[in-house]
Amino acid sequence: MHHPLRLTIDRSAIQANWRWLQERAGVAAGAAVKADGYGLGAGEATKALFDAGCRDFFVSTWAEAEQLGGLPSDASLVVLHGVGPNDADAALGLRARPCLNTAEQVARWEQIAPGRACDVMIDTGMNRLGLRPNEIDLLDGLAIDTLHSHLACADEDDPLNEMQLERFRVVASAVQAKRYSFANSAGICLGRDYSFDLVRPGIALCGGVPREEAANNIRQVVRIEAQIVQRRTIPEGESCGYGATFLAQENTEAAILNVGYADGYLRGFSSHGSAFAGEFSLPVLGRVSMDLLAVGCDAVPGLKEGDWVEIDYDLPSASKQSGLSQYELLTCLGERFERRWI
Ligand SMILES: *Cc1c(COP(=O)(O)O)cnc(C)c1O
Repeated sequence: MHHPLRLTIDRSAIQANWRWLQERAGVAAGAAVKADGYGLGAGEATKALFDAGCRDFFVSTWAEAEQLGGLPSDASLVVLHGVGPNDADAALGLRARPCLNTAEQVARWEQIAPGRACDVMIDTGMNRLGLRPNEIDLLDGLAIDTLHSHLACADEDDPLNEMQLERFRVVASAVQAKRYSFANSAGICLGRDYSFDLVRPGIALCGGVPREEAANNIRQVVRIEAQIVQRRTIPEGESCGYGATFLAQENTEAAILNVGYADGYLRGFSSHGSAFAGEFSLPVLGRVSMDLLAVGCDAVPGLKEGDWVEIDYDLPSASKQSGLSQYELLTCLGERFERRWI
């Protein structure tokens, strides 16, 4: 079946991004592949990263762990949300370990899998998941593989970064574990003080630029192309699309593309997004529809029905255009794309 829109995912770019992050951190680098590898495909992403040398993988739920299937025996998989009241069977049956987040989870793990390895998340100030530093006595006797904490504001210069670092150092010196892990993609850019033994990048592997420091080193991974359904002239004085928000000041050439907000090209791109035909930039005209998008193509007279157009989906620039975060841009990509790994 022909798909009129496609997503091209560059395996070598993911691998290059992982290598850069690993070198920058100066320690082992894992990979967060939750949410189906940030929308790209967790299976393919994991394979590419394993081939590059990555051995530590993180998903959110046991369903994601099951979906990922068996990893090579020297790779490890951690379920970040831990072991909940309905997770015992999955946790005992799958070759993945939980990252325990609460006193209840610690007690549950001690009961269902005494002595078996786990990870633990410490909350050093984000107040999302994790045990508070004053609860670490509960961890006595656990076989902790990796002790984690997670930064709330690593993508900004916020005093919370150093406060969390200091708190994590204190906890790390008091809790026995094989390894300690703190930094996500943005945290890696904060410097090696944040590296500990293992870093956990996600978005930067996929081409997201978490901080300025990474801007010239992270390669674009995802490209979107859509096929032209119709080429038309919008007569001077007429409008285009829902709400008639684009008004043609003069006769305007438009290409109507096979992509819309149902594909994850959300309405934040209305009048702000852009596409490319070769070196020419094609501005989004008016509102994004559910399945269609109009771009201006005065600059490219030869463009015709059936031609392919690349949509600007370089994450930092698409984020500026749309007001969406780089994370949202990836995880909202829909099912109608033909996903091609190159
Ligand atoms: C998602 C996640 C990461 C990866 O974060 P990025 O900002 O995508 O690099 C790392 N650690 C934890 C605990 C996470 O939930």
